[in-house]
Amino acid sequence: MGFAIAFSILAMIGIVAARYLAASGIFAWLTAKVRPGFYTGLDMQMRREIGWSLAAATIYGVPAGVVAWGWDTLGWTLIYSEWNAYPLWYLPLSVLVYLFAHDTWFYWTHRWMHRPRAFRLAHAVHHASRPPTAWAAMSFHPVEAIIGAVIIPLLVFIIPIHVAMLAAVLTVMTVMGVTNHMGWEIFPRRLVHSRLGNWLITASHHQLHHERYSCNYGLYFRFWDRLCRTDKGLADAYRP
Ligand SMILES: [Zn+2]
Ligand SMILES: [Zn+2]
Repeated sequence: MGFAIAFSILAMIGIVAARYLAASGIFAWLTAKVRPGFYTGLDMQMRREIGWSLAAATIYGVPAGVVAWGWDTLGWTLIYSEWNAYPLWYLPLSVLVYLFAHDTWFYWTHRWMHRPRAFRLAHAVHHASRPPTAWAAMSFHPVEAIIGAVIIPLLVFIIPIHVAMLAAVLTVMTVMGVTNHMGWEIFPRRLVHSRLGNWLITASHHQLHHERYSCNYGLYFRFWDRLCRTDKGLADAYRP
């Protein structure tokens, strides 16, 4: 049993690390193509971002590996694989519920990490990226990595989700994590400045968090930032 858990954890660490390297690598390559020289002078910073990110990937793999093992051998979690186990409309709804729950967890723990002690202890690592690059997506101190690593493995015990929808959630998490730190907006202006775009977080929004620190704490949606009056709009370069 111990061997099987260890194997599952190691496999998950490998998957999370490979996913990070692939996603950040693709968007860093794209940045070099469409914005040549954009990351000039940031070599040392990017090396640190990759180091912290791989350490964080190791931490993320532990709860994910334990839960994946329990799902496989003991029937843990509410992850299901029959398409009609729940009504079909529940498939997209479950994705939104997961993203909103993750966003809520992120917003409030992120605000807590901006309190002076927690910032110095942990979150300063993430803000050492000035400006952030595509490699900063998982650049977290181990304390912040633990806080981030537990939420999805916890949610799968509380909210039912189809395994493919869980994959969709993890894909959105990975892609948005990278593109929000890339330093330039990849989504079309027509979306970013649309009514829907007003509620979504992309690079234009998260960039301002890295510039000003005391606003724009959200992850996917601007709901909590707007409700708590911490939303200061888009970074200057992206204002309409
Ligand atoms: Zn950030
Ligand atoms: Zn922050």
